[in-house]
Amino acid sequence: MTNNRRFVLVLALFLFLLVLGSVAVIIAKARIHPPSNGSAAANGPSVREPGKISAEKPAAESALKEEFNLPAHSLRVANKTFGFPAGGIPVLMYHAIESLPGNSLGVPPQQFAQEMQYLHQHGYQTLSLDVLRNLIQNPQNTALPTQPILLTFDDGYADNYRTAWPIMRQFGFTGTFFVVTAAVGSGMMTWDNLKDLAQEGNSIGSHTIHHYDLTTLSPIRLKQELADSKAAIEKELGISVFAFCYPSGRYNTATLAMLTQTGYTLAFTTEPGRVTASVSPLTLKRIRVPGGLSLNGFAKLLN
Ligand SMILES: [Zn+2]
Repeated sequence: MTNNRRFVLVLALFLFLLVLGSVAVIIAKARIHPPSNGSAAANGPSVREPGKISAEKPAAESALKEEFNLPAHSLRVANKTFGFPAGGIPVLMYHAIESLPGNSLGVPPQQFAQEMQYLHQHGYQTLSLDVLRNLIQNPQNTALPTQPILLTFDDGYADNYRTAWPIMRQFGFTGTFFVVTAAVGSGMMTWDNLKDLAQEGNSIGSHTIHHYDLTTLSPIRLKQELADSKAAIEKELGISVFAFCYPSGRYNTATLAMLTQTGYTLAFTTEPGRVTASVSPLTLKRIRVPGGLSLNGFAKLLN
């Protein structure tokens, strides 16, 4: 009897420890893999509410980093969100940054500096073309600052490098410069200027070879304007060119088809509006900033 009782006691103790051990394992697993809600489980971790990233635990953060192939620092920025902001993204359109009396395409440097300061004070952060392309192609997996904006400059004026860039740089901004390749170096920005801009994180796109009205060209000439300008920039700067800007905003269905055929994935118009989730990537809208605009007027363009 004594032996039997001892056996029962030992068995009971063993079972108790087994149960205790199992409970401990279940609790530990629950802590490592907290239960997710139905929609997150169905869509995978790529679907995240805007603004949730800062709350991620370090383990989840490293998983996110791998999943989105993002540099670690971008996940630590508290004000990152994923996907398109509700109101879309403003893309500002500038040309020359100098006073051109009687021509609203010229924005005086003082006006431009005030506008950059306004953007900085209101928390805007500039996006590169790479990020915009990723956003359009894969919005749920593209991290954005809460106040994204693009600064674009058409034609490649020398003052873009000489005047605009030093001001933008002061505020931590980068821009997108659409160049007319036949004009590079002839009173406009040089290839060295553009190389410097590209190395500093700015984006460069094509604005054709000659700035012709594309809707008037034969298919052969049209193809040359698109393909050869892209090839020239890629050769001179050693970058990949995938963005285009229509000279004087002129395009038609033949232009759109040729853009795709020659390897462009983004194209900007002069039509007013923002870049939203529903846009066509070859007809992106922009906001023109005219010379002589007051700072109040500028603020209204953004709101
Ligand atoms: Zn132009």
